[in-house]
Amino acid sequence: MAPPRFTGSFTQQEPIPEAGIEAAVAVMRSGRLHRYNVAPGEASEASALEREFALWQGARYCLAVASGGQAMQIALRAAGVRPGDPVLTNAFTLAPVPGAVAAAGAQPVLVEITEDLVIDLQDLGAKARSSGARHLLLSNMRGHLCDMEALMAIAAAEGVTVIEDCAHTMGATWKRRKSGGFGLAGCFSTQTYKHINSGEGGLLTSDDAEFIARATILSGSYMLYERHGAGPAPETYQDIRLDTPNMSARMDNLRAAVLRAQLPLIDDRIDRWNQRHDRIARHLSGHNAIRLPHRPAAEGYVGSSIQFTVPGIRPEAARAFLAETAARGVEVKWFGAADPVAFTSAHSSWRYVPRQSLPATDRILSGLFDMRLPLTFSLEDCDQIAGHILEAASVVLEDTA
Ligand SMILES: *Cc1c(COP(=O)(O)O)cnc(C)c1O
Repeated sequence: MAPPRFTGSFTQQEPIPEAGIEAAVAVMRSGRLHRYNVAPGEASEASALEREFALWQGARYCLAVASGGQAMQIALRAAGVRPGDPVLTNAFTLAPVPGAVAAAGAQPVLVEITEDLVIDLQDLGAKARSSGARHLLLSNMRGHLCDMEALMAIAAAEGVTVIEDCAHTMGATWKRRKSGGFGLAGCFSTQTYKHINSGEGGLLTSDDAEFIARATILSGSYMLYERHGAGPAPETYQDIRLDTPNMSARMDNLRAAVLRAQLPLIDDRIDRWNQRHDRIARHLSGHNAIRLPHRPAAEGYVGSSIQFTVPGIRPEAARAFLAETAARGVEVKWFGAADPVAFTSAHSSWRYVPRQSLPATDRILSGLFDMRLPLTFSLEDCDQIAGHILEAASVVLEDTA
């Protein structure tokens, strides 16, 4: 008897906590949804969120914006990226990352990844030298952290400023230091599928006063920047307020209220994600055709999704594997598809980026599978999902042996 088809939804997040719903209703009752619309003596929800997130992240400053993509675009501009500049970034990431480079008018220089899905540090050094790039938008894609100390040493040696895309690493650590705290800035997303959920939203953190002042004006603060909860002293803005364009990408108080109620929950969510991730990883690690990315002891990860590779799998076998898992109700994504599907795409389908030869990345992506792990799944659900994957693998991988 085959085990029953899995019926859970891979896109169903947990509800907004009641405290967040109540705070959001209070904002709506007040009518003051715009973050700079405050009553005398009042701190807005957006400003309180900035203060609280900066404290949690251990950053001096935080700026709340409209999306994770906007956090990255603003960070690049505030870091001094000019139109036409080369910007290094991972060849394996999500489309908003090369999109942010393109939005700044810059040219993505794609860096290879390793079997463990992190940026290849050797290729990074080589491409920093060959391109002359002064900036790296480091994508901690799917929550995998490279050796952050080694990366920062290369960046320092090559004169490269690092901006971290932490859309999948909010709460992750390298040697107990939080992801987002290594480079000039950390960019976080609060879009529904990330670690805290406001539908859309982004958070930008930094310890650099002038950088965050430029970012604040770019985000559309007008001359109201003094109302920020976690911003630099007003003097910092003296010239910046006149030299910096307004690109209107603010977060509103409604979303900030929904997020503030989730900040105290992040650490517990991380524990629960890792229980689910590790449960599935344990099942899959027993299969000899399946390879799990190595997780170094220095990495404190957040298993909100899981990746595995089937090295050498041919495209027709990969498609058969997807069909077998889908038939069992399990939504596995494949990064090797020629055409972009849903959230997944490969560098070859970003046609606005000059074509680049990335043989290692292409080989790894051709066998890379990915699965989201919402917290609405129980541990028993994870056992069932892993069982289905192993069954599908046994059907397909036999055929290709
Ligand atoms: C989601 C995501 C982003 C951007 O977040 P948005 O808030 O959707 O703009 C950036 N990088 C990665 C890797 C992501 O997954």
